[in-house]
Amino acid sequence: MSDVARTYRVVPDPEHAGSRMILCRLCETVSTHPADVAELYCPQCDHFHEDPLMNQSGPRHDMTYVEMARSAYSSYVANVVGKNHLGLPLPSWHDLPTHRQIAWECAVRQVEICLLTPEEADAAESRWTGWTPPPEERA
Ligand SMILES: [Zn+2]
Repeated sequence: MSDVARTYRVVPDPEHAGSRMILCRLCETVSTHPADVAELYCPQCDHFHEDPLMNQSGPRHDMTYVEMARSAYSSYVANVVGKNHLGLPLPSWHDLPTHRQIAWECAVRQVEICLLTPEEADAAESRWTGWTPPPEERA
């Protein structure tokens, strides 16, 4: 449940620092060949895996991060029936202070890291302190 429907994983190669290997979940074998890793290829299966989340221009989003943050916040508000932990009403997304909207965007971006590179998730958590979105995004 913590993983997307991927038929492979690319993970660090424990025997070669800085290198990665591809683990095929169809046959449960590993290839450390750099070309196999780069092309998501399993030589055992003779199969090119497809990444459901990535394409050449990066993650494939139909929604912007801001739209995803708004949707996540609305889901949160719905689940807590519109009240904060003190029982006070939560504001709508539009009335939420900008720094709170940015905090929700951080949460959404962290979820993306959890999906794409779960091995980096723990280390990434503290990097959001003081983060602000790139200016072009909020135009
Ligand atoms: Zn395979």
